[in-house]
Amino acid sequence: MAARKAIGDPRRWCGEPIQPMTLGNMRQSGVRGLVATCCACSHNTEVDVNAWPDDVSVRSFGLHMRCTMCGHLGATAIPNWKERADTMPGGARYRASAPYR
Ligand SMILES: [Zn+2]
Repeated sequence: MAARKAIGDPRRWCGEPIQPMTLGNMRQSGVRGLVATCCACSHNTEVDVNAWPDDVSVRSFGLHMRCTMCGHLGATAIPNWKERADTMPGGARYRASAPYR
């Protein structure tokens, strides 16, 4: 009987290991802050990370955050993509550029 062929390692992309998103990557995408969601009660809040250097991973913030509602240590931290929504079509800060004028 032949061994099952592995479909792929979800931790890799095209053979390259997937690197966690850093604050530097996030800022290059036009996002300056995080949204943290408590793992216990789902309370969420926006977090200003401007004081942190570019090489800090986004994921590392969640491990050290304490919820202000229930006191639980540990949250999910993701880039605050809503910040960028304003610059997308339909957003208040959207500026059409060629060829879409
Ligand atoms: Zn909580």
